Amino acid sequence: MGQNIKKVMIIGGGIAGIQASLDLAERGIEVELIEKNSCIGGRMAQLDKTFPTNDCSICILAPKLSECSRHPNITLHTLSEVKKLSGQPGNFKVKIYKKARYVKEDECINCGQCVEKCPMRVDDEFDMKLRKRRAIYIDYVQGVPSIMRIDKENCLLFTKDSCRICEKVCEREAIDFDQKDEEFELNVGSIIVATGYDIFDPSSLTTLGYGRYPNVVTALEFERLICASGPLGGHLERPSDKKDPKKLAFVNCVGSRDVKNNPFCSSCCCMYTTKEAMIAYEHDNEIETSIFYIDLRAAGKGFREYIQRGRDEYSIKYIKGKVAKILEDDQKNPLIVYEDIDTLQVKQIKFDLVILATTMIPKKGAEELAQTLGIKMNDFNFYKANSYQPQKSSKEGIFLCGACREPMDIPNSVIDASGAAAKAAEIIMRG
Ligand code: FAD
Ligand code: SF4
Repeated sequence: MGQNIKKVMIIGGGIAGIQASLDLAERGIEVELIEKNSCIGGRMAQLDKTFPTNDCSICILAPKLSECSRHPNITLHTLSEVKKLSGQPGNFKVKIYKKARYVKEDECINCGQCVEKCPMRVDDEFDMKLRKRRAIYIDYVQGVPSIMRIDKENCLLFTKDSCRICEKVCEREAIDFDQKDEEFELNVGSIIVATGYDIFDPSSLTTLGYGRYPNVVTALEFERLICASGPLGGHLERPSDKKDPKKLAFVNCVGSRDVKNNPFCSSCCCMYTTKEAMIAYEHDNEIETSIFYIDLRAAGKGFREYIQRGRDEYSIKYIKGKVAKILEDDQKNPLIVYEDIDTLQVKQIKFDLVILATTMIPKKGAEELAQTLGIKMNDFNFYKANSYQPQKSSKEGIFLCGACREPMDIPNSVIDASGAAAKAAEIIMRG
């Protein structure tokens, strides 16, 4: 039997992948961190604040991002994805496909001059398409690595064979249109999958009006709308007329706990809607919020108390009621029609802005990655975890952590990541 390779590959650079990388690196184990976006950070980077402490999300994340990029035991591969796996636990061979950035990583200092001059404007995915970005851009202001990238699908040089403005204005000559996508191989002893989740698209639930009514938004859009670094600079206004909304409603369990869509519980929404209502109140204490729920699942330590604080200190009204539909009046105010579960009456209330707590669903491409790695999916299309050792996948030497195995909040993703790191280390430490 050959020597085990003392290296771990981590797929996905959200909070779970970052925590697992740091745990291993601190133990002296080399880590290859594979991230398909151009910056690490995952969804946590998109959040304004985080429950249960209501700390600023990026303030907690940023030191971990820079530690990850500077740690001598961590090699960061951005714009990269796994294409092929062979070998066995202790000695896996992995083929990685890395997309060209068209910007020299060791030259770009993220000065932003190219961004100012780039004439192309496209929807900014990080800001949930609520503002535009350029064809040369960084995923988000505090993104790591702090390097621009060119989006080939929208850049005028690639689509119309004209422009090159960024190349002309870049004093450091960091633009390189000749870069090519590349493939390379890594040899690792074990693998951790931390590819996270996507958000359910509520436009398929036509009765809720998302996509048709401007004042019906998702909770992740709301995170960007209230964030100081978001499209509104932190001043909440409603999309239809830019007025300050005073009456907010959150609808929990959108697309979850519903046999027609996703039967599972998204686990975080009861808490994050309370958090978003608290932040809205901190922005403007004339705001009144109602949260429509089926049950309040506040199972973590201090979570019940958090909801009670929402009631007592932030005047949040919790309405136990199933929302049947959302209508719109001629002022574009959404009207929630719901069945009040306590009185069994059908009622209607008018709001300024409605926020849908859409469920966390399996990441797009998760099934393809499962096939590449040879791991199984569960009934809901998350990666299948061992019932008694949840960080173990169905294949020896491959571990799971964070929201790629089930909807999970940040504290649990971090605990999960440390568990997966310990198990991945065990494999490579065997003789
Ligand atoms: P992600 O954050 O999704 O990160 C996964 C990473 O993997 C991404 O960087 C992605 O690009 C990368 N990736 C995906 N596929 C591949 C691939 N094939 N190859 C390479 N890389 C890949 N939790 C809290 O504790 N507090 C809160 O206040 C809170 N608020 C929330 C508000 C909303 C509206 C929502 C929807 C969720 C909220 N959450 C909150 C939950 C929180 O977002 C998750 O717990 C956390 O992001 C999970 O981290 P993760 O690393 O598992 O996944
Ligand atoms: Fe923007 Fe492409 Fe023109 Fe550069 S070459 S400024 S990225 S459109």
